[in-house]
Amino acid sequence: IIQIDGLSKWYGQFQVLHDIDLAVQQGERIVICGPSGSGKSTLIRCINRLETVQKGRIVVDGIDLTAGGRNTQEVRREVGMVFQQFNLFPHMTVLENCTLAPMRSRGMSREEAEETAIRYLTRVRIPDQASKYPSQLSGGQQQRVAIARALCMSPRIMLFDEPTSALDPEMVKEVLDTMVGLAEDGMTMLCVTHEMGFARSVADRVIFMADGRIVEQAPPEQFFSNPQQEKTRNFLGQIL
Ligand code: ATP
Ligand code: MG
Repeated sequence: IIQIDGLSKWYGQFQVLHDIDLAVQQGERIVICGPSGSGKSTLIRCINRLETVQKGRIVVDGIDLTAGGRNTQEVRREVGMVFQQFNLFPHMTVLENCTLAPMRSRGMSREEAEETAIRYLTRVRIPDQASKYPSQLSGGQQQRVAIARALCMSPRIMLFDEPTSALDPEMVKEVLDTMVGLAEDGMTMLCVTHEMGFARSVADRVIFMADGRIVEQAPPEQFFSNPQQEKTRNFLGQIL
């Protein structure tokens, strides 16, 4: 469902991604980890066109992002993204946050959009918070709203960029549980996270990045018990 070939990206003179090849199958759950500055966020942001790329090819659900043309809207409809800092609209209620995009870019009626929103807010277990503003919610609740908001667009792929790292420890679990539920429902997921328990129990494949390159990738059992690369071993030594 995602095919990336020979992707390189520069910020000015600085090469942030080096010749990345990555193919993701529908329904696959991928965890991406690696040191700060290794290009994890940049890579997943390329997948929904939050970043432009200079070299290589990215095809997402049949949409060629590197062919030029106006396919940004199209890909954003297929790909949901959840950020570290929730990124909810502060001046809108939870319900309005969830209905805005479906009404604007999927052409849903308000009634249908609200029905959909309540369905997903129920799924992330906060239907009772629909009329509150983001600032009235805990971090864990805000992040679950962000997940529900993304799901309201019926994405085929979900991208997560360190969704739990801004949360207090007691709220991490509720967000991870939501993500596990999504995985169980067969969602294609790419998650940048250092939650290695999540990686072990959910991921089909763990990808380790360093210095803008994919250094190693393997199923979690193998990745954690028998990492092949020195850099991977050093990294795991630091975080486990
Ligand atoms: P972290 O774990 O800290 O989130 P990361 O692996 O997500 O790190 P990126 O955010 O992808 O790393 O950044 C990779 C490199 O690109 C870093 O060296 C960063 O300083 C640089 N970088 C990121 N965004 C920009 C930008 N908009 N302009 C210039 N350099 C950038
Ligand atoms: Mg990052």
